[in-house]
Amino acid sequence: MESIKLVIFDLDGVIYRGNSLLPGAKETIEKLRMRGKYIAFLTNNSTRTRYQYKRKLSRLGIKARIEEIFTSAWGTANFLKNKGARKALVIGEDGLKKELKWAGIEVTSLPQNDVDFVVVGLDRRFNYKKLCNAFEAVKKGAKFIATNMDYTFPLEDKIVPGGGAIVASLRWALNMEPIVIGKPSPFLLEYIMNQYCVDKEQAVIVGDRLDTDIEMGKRAGMKTVLVLTGVTSREEVERQAIKPDEIIEQLDDLLDLEWLK
Ligand SMILES: [Mg+2]
Repeated sequence: MESIKLVIFDLDGVIYRGNSLLPGAKETIEKLRMRGKYIAFLTNNSTRTRYQYKRKLSRLGIKARIEEIFTSAWGTANFLKNKGARKALVIGEDGLKKELKWAGIEVTSLPQNDVDFVVVGLDRRFNYKKLCNAFEAVKKGAKFIATNMDYTFPLEDKIVPGGGAIVASLRWALNMEPIVIGKPSPFLLEYIMNQYCVDKEQAVIVGDRLDTDIEMGKRAGMKTVLVLTGVTSREEVERQAIKPDEIIEQLDDLLDLEWLK
C-alpha cells in the first residue's frame, strides 16, 4: 500500500472547540510534521479569512503557513476566479468578501445587470432585503453559489443555524439548486491535492462530522478518520450509513495508526 503523505484536518471539533485547543492536537501536528507528513487545515466556515485562521491557530500554539489553510470562502473565491467572474453579489460576512476581493472580484450587494455570480454564506446580519436582491440577481442571469450547506454550527454553549440555513431560503424562493463549494463537495480537496501534488491514495481526511468531512473523503476516494471530540458520538456512527475507516477518541490516537507511521 502506498504511504500517506498528506493529512487534512477539519478545524472545529478536531483542533479546537471555540477558543480551547483540543487534547493532543498540538503534539499530533508537530509529530506528523516530524514524520515528514504534509499538513492541511480545511474548514467550511466562510466568515473569516485564511489570515484570521492562521492567527487563531497561532494563538492556540499551532504553527501553520497560510498555504496550509483552506476555507470555503477562499475556495469560493478561487472557483469564481477560475470561472472568469468579475462581479459577485454576496450574502456573507467580511472574511468572504475579502477573499473575493483579493481574488480580483468586485463585490456588491445590489442586483446590478453585470453581476455574474450570487454567493451565499453565513451572514449574521441576513435580512429580507438581502434575500430580495440575491433573488433578483439570479433571475437576471447570475449563477447561484453556496459556500457551504452546513445546517448548524457549534458555539461554546449552544448550537446555532449555519450558512446552509441562509442558502436554503434563497434556494426555496428560486426553486433552484446552488453549486456548493464547501465540504462535502470535491472542489476544495482537488485544490489541496493539486497544491501538494499528491493523489487520493496518499491523503487522509480527519474530521468530526459524518455528513461533511467523512462524506467528502469518501466521495474523493480517500481514507477517512472520525475523531469523537466534536459533534459526532460513537452511537451516532452506528446509526448512520456513512462509515469512516477509523474512529479515534482524541487526535493523538492518530499517531498510533500503522499507516501513518
Ligand atoms: Mg468540525
